[in-house]
Amino acid sequence: MIRIENLHKKFGKNEVLTDINTTIDKGEVVAIIGPSGSGKSTLLRCINLLEEPTSGSVYVHGKDITQPKTDILEIRQKVGMVFQHFHLFPHMKVIDNLTYAPMKVKGMSEKEAKEKAMSLLNQVGLNEKADAYPTSLSGGQKQRVAIARALAMEPELMLFDEPTSALDPEMVKEVLDVIKSLAHSGMTLVVVTHEMGFAKEVADRIIFMDYGKIVEENSPKKFFEEAHTERAKDFLAKVL
Ligand code: ADP
Ligand code: MG
Repeated sequence: MIRIENLHKKFGKNEVLTDINTTIDKGEVVAIIGPSGSGKSTLLRCINLLEEPTSGSVYVHGKDITQPKTDILEIRQKVGMVFQHFHLFPHMKVIDNLTYAPMKVKGMSEKEAKEKAMSLLNQVGLNEKADAYPTSLSGGQKQRVAIARALAMEPELMLFDEPTSALDPEMVKEVLDVIKSLAHSGMTLVVVTHEMGFAKEVADRIIFMDYGKIVEENSPKKFFEEAHTERAKDFLAKVL
């Protein structure tokens, strides 16, 4: 579904992604882990063109999205994104957060968008919050709304950038459970996370990044039990 080739990203002189190469298959769940500043967010943002790669290619379904003729809106429809800090529309009710883009971008009727939204709210356990405003929700509830909102666009791939890092500890599980159920439904997921237990349990593959490079890429079992680089071992020693 995704193929990344020789991807580089510079901010000014600062090269934050150096020669990234990997592929992500349909239905695969990939966890990206690594120290702060290693380029994890920038890599995700290059996959949905929130950042423009400096060089290299990102193919989505065989189409190189780094070409100038790429329809960015089309890519954003295919690739949903969930952020650490939710980014809900604060002035809109939960239901309107979910129906806005499907109506505006996909041209869905209000009736259809609302039905879809209610079904998604049900899926994330929040159907009773349809008419609430985001400010009245807990962090865990806000993040579940953000996930439902991304799903409302019927993406083929979902990117999560530290979806539980801004949450109080007691709310982490409710959000991870939603992501887990998406993983089990066969959706293709790329999750940047510091939740090692989650990565170990849910991911098909771990990508470990440091200093803008993919340092190790392996099954969770192999990665957690026999990381072979010093950098990965150091990192795991700190977080496990
Ligand atoms: P991570 O998500 O692994 O913590 P990031 O991808 O956010 O890492 O950042 C990688 C590096 O790129 C950091 O040094 C960061 O300061 C830098 N960086 C990220 N975004 C920008 C930006 N918009 N402008 C300049 N530098 C940036
Ligand atoms: Mg980040």
